[in-house]
Amino acid sequence: MTTGNSDSVKKPKTKTKAEKTLKKSRDLVLSKKMKEKAKFLLKEKACNECLGRQFINTVKGTSNSERGNKIAKALKVKANEPSECRFCKGLTNLKTITDWVAESLEGIEFDTFLVGSRVPKDLVEKEEAMWTEIGIESSEPLKQNLNRLVGKQISEKLDKEVDFDLPDVNIIVDFTEQDLEIKINPLFLCANYIKLKRGIPQTKWPCRACRGKGCEKCKGTGKQYETSVEELIAAKCLEEFGAETQSFHGAGREDIDALMLNDGRPFVLELKNPKKRKTDLKKLEKKINSFAKGSVEIKNLESCGRKKIRELKLAKFDKSYRALVECEREIKKSELEKLSEFTESEIIQQTPLRVLHRRANLSRKKYVYSMEWKKPKRGKTFELFVRASAGTYIKELVSGDEERTKPNVSSVLGAKCKCVELDVLEIIPKKTVARRKKK
Ligand SMILES: [Zn+2]
Ligand SMILES: [Zn+2]
Repeated sequence: MTTGNSDSVKKPKTKTKAEKTLKKSRDLVLSKKMKEKAKFLLKEKACNECLGRQFINTVKGTSNSERGNKIAKALKVKANEPSECRFCKGLTNLKTITDWVAESLEGIEFDTFLVGSRVPKDLVEKEEAMWTEIGIESSEPLKQNLNRLVGKQISEKLDKEVDFDLPDVNIIVDFTEQDLEIKINPLFLCANYIKLKRGIPQTKWPCRACRGKGCEKCKGTGKQYETSVEELIAAKCLEEFGAETQSFHGAGREDIDALMLNDGRPFVLELKNPKKRKTDLKKLEKKINSFAKGSVEIKNLESCGRKKIRELKLAKFDKSYRALVECEREIKKSELEKLSEFTESEIIQQTPLRVLHRRANLSRKKYVYSMEWKKPKRGKTFELFVRASAGTYIKELVSGDEERTKPNVSSVLGAKCKCVELDVLEIIPKKTVARRKKK
């Protein structure tokens, strides 16, 4: 494979190799035991491939059929046709399968693939019985053999690479049912999103009344909210990559009524069943931003791997917020000085009442790094700028949430306060979080 020759039709090199092999095969000397084994296999009409793969570690050769050929020659017998072979019943004659696979892959963009297969049970059992009977200790089993052969042929035919870890496409040949399954693996994109409009949830929310089926309440959309950050970003991506659906993985989320400003929040978009895998991401970013204009904007769109999701979920981000607070009474600027006690302080937060229906009722220590304020001369409202540790509930830090957050802005000021607007200003990756090794 080092010829650097992309022309896969001509294969002069293989021919010379085969010629060399012929010469060498005259030199092959079989031990008595090996002779017995080979004779048994040949009596069962083993084809070259099936004969050769039983001697994968004992007879030198670049392929099983070459090994088989050598052995047959050493025994001065003719090899059997795969169609007669009782070990593979002709399955190793893979031309039709390869053509079928190639045809099924038409219109799908991919660079790497992996072949798997389902093999008739009776053949597997026959093979295993033979191993015990004649004492074959290391062989390439039929299934593995077929996977490798199909993989090799596809690779040559389509000029694509086999990838055992993260293939773009999984090909599963079912030799039992004569069926073929092509599984296109998802494509992952990552970026930061900025949310410029309130009232948009991060992800698609199924309608509460019909659970997504579509009803009168949701006007048949099956959705609780008209759109979401997820949908606004995914629409153009699905189109671009010919993908079917998506999953959205955010590094945490803000409330539906909160904005996400400045550099935005990291996320991974998983596109499922994409027919295309490559595009100009800069152009796509522009398309997304013009489509979602006024609601959502993304920055730094890049492709990534699945492990990025885990990275995002594990990472703890400190956040800074702007909260517009409304107090039950007029509040003096001097009174707000009391809030300085929050800076560099610990608070205890019990799971907010508003999320108790979906989160466990727990008490958690949170940390407020800083709290600053801005206030017009008169009025009941003021702005708070808070930087706090990951997962701090800011609305509850303001209201107190029936004293489930302690201390809280209301208790410190001695007046009931409410957060009427919340913006996430910044998401700050914590340096103390152990970084997984880079890819
Ligand atoms: Zn065979
Ligand atoms: Zn509904």
